[in-house]
Amino acid sequence: MAMLRGLLRLRLLCGLLGRELSTRRSSSTLDWAGKMSEIKKKIQSVLPGGAWNPLYDTSHLPPEHSDVVIVGGGVLGLSVAYWLKKLEKQRGAIQVLVVERDHTYSRASTGLSVGGIRQQFSLPVNVQLSLFSVDFLRNINDYLAVVDDPPLDPRFNPSGYLLLASEKGAAIMENNVKMQRQEGAKVCLMSPEQLRNKFPWINTEGVALASYGLEGEGWFDPWSLLWGLRRKVQSMGVLFCQGEVTRFVSSSNRMETTNGEEVTLKRIHEVHVKMDHSLEYQPVECAIVINAAGAWSGQVAELAGIGKGPPGTLQGTKLPVEPRKRYVYLWHCPEGPGLETPFIADTSGVYFRREGLGNNYLGGCSPTEEEEPNPGNLEVDHDFFQDKVWPQLAQRVPAFENLKVILPPCGWAGRRTAGFEVLT
Ligand SMILES: Cc1cc2nc3c(=O)[nH]c(=O)nc-3n(C[C@H](O)[C@H](O)[C@H](O)COP(=O)(O)OP(=O)(O)OC[C@H]3O[C@@H](n4cnc5c(N)ncnc54)[C@H](O)[C@@H]3O)c2cc1C
Repeated sequence: MAMLRGLLRLRLLCGLLGRELSTRRSSSTLDWAGKMSEIKKKIQSVLPGGAWNPLYDTSHLPPEHSDVVIVGGGVLGLSVAYWLKKLEKQRGAIQVLVVERDHTYSRASTGLSVGGIRQQFSLPVNVQLSLFSVDFLRNINDYLAVVDDPPLDPRFNPSGYLLLASEKGAAIMENNVKMQRQEGAKVCLMSPEQLRNKFPWINTEGVALASYGLEGEGWFDPWSLLWGLRRKVQSMGVLFCQGEVTRFVSSSNRMETTNGEEVTLKRIHEVHVKMDHSLEYQPVECAIVINAAGAWSGQVAELAGIGKGPPGTLQGTKLPVEPRKRYVYLWHCPEGPGLETPFIADTSGVYFRREGLGNNYLGGCSPTEEEEPNPGNLEVDHDFFQDKVWPQLAQRVPAFENLKVILPPCGWAGRRTAGFEVLT
């Protein structure tokens, strides 16, 4: 009976404590430390000799300090965390915290992407990044293996990208391929006739030139890469916290440059993390913040005041990243092209690739500026496939006249960042 009474009192205290916690930040006049010690004493009085301390299950909370805070735990945030730990001179030298608001990644681009990798870009830096990435994928267990855990299989499917150019885009394509080859990518140009010989199921009408990746391109399972990175960085001591970064606290110092100019140096020294299902936030002191919030990076930059200064100044320049909704459709076509099908990007902007071995395909097309859908939800517009995607697919690959969209799910939508790179 005494035990039961004790437990009831304990529950009451926990309820009281819960209420205190939820208002912790809203009343600055609360003598938090004093109240805590009072409550702690009461709990100890009903738990004789108890070393168990129910007040301090803080495993879900971020640490109070971290050298680096990474906002966003998608493939980019995790990759930054991995390389920071990999390159640290001494184990544990850098404390890294990844803050991710959705640990199911239901809206993150990484899991919603189609997993393609190519070197056919127009900027040398992208070619270099991709050459390294394909080597990383091929040797993924050299990088991401974790002792006693099964090896990773990112299901890399080597298959060239085939980009098709109209008369208008042919010269740009030729220049791009020249640069890609100089950077070390294995890419070749193909005439319409060569195209017909190699891929007889393609209708080359309106195609002036094509570029085809001979090596190092294809697609893989982005989820495997994401979870592989997550597993690895956790094993390297990176901390994770489920919450949303909602505020940065900065300090400013006025400084003089070598030529006597006065500048204000602004530095973030604290990040506020709003905890999941709670109004409470946790402050984390830090030295460096990495914005890896994907399509939401523009919004995170705004929290740091980027884009909010006077127009025409650096502070007044927004980070040009915003969410754009993109649909991916899945279809089946028994007479469709076979295993040699590359990842095709058509002159019209429609793209597709094979999915698995059973004549299934996935693809889509970016809408025009006027057609840009509302990125606020991830509903799929089926009419967009019927009206905009299918006609172009069937024009390029006549066998696709008879395709059947796979139900359910018929497709999915994800948010991409407004792009910096165009294909041709
Ligand atoms: C339909 C589609 C197809 C694509 N196909 C390809 C392709 O074939 N090849 C290719 O290379 N790329 C492709 N992409 C692009 C690719 O998916 C992205 O470039 C990549 O996944 C971006 O990774 P990320 O980590 O930057 O973003 P994300 O994976 O979106 O991760 C960002 C994370 O930040 C979190 N976050 C945001 N704000 C906050 C905050 N304030 N606090 C805490 N967490 C926050 C989000 O919850 C999210 O999990 C495609 C994208 C889409 C949508």
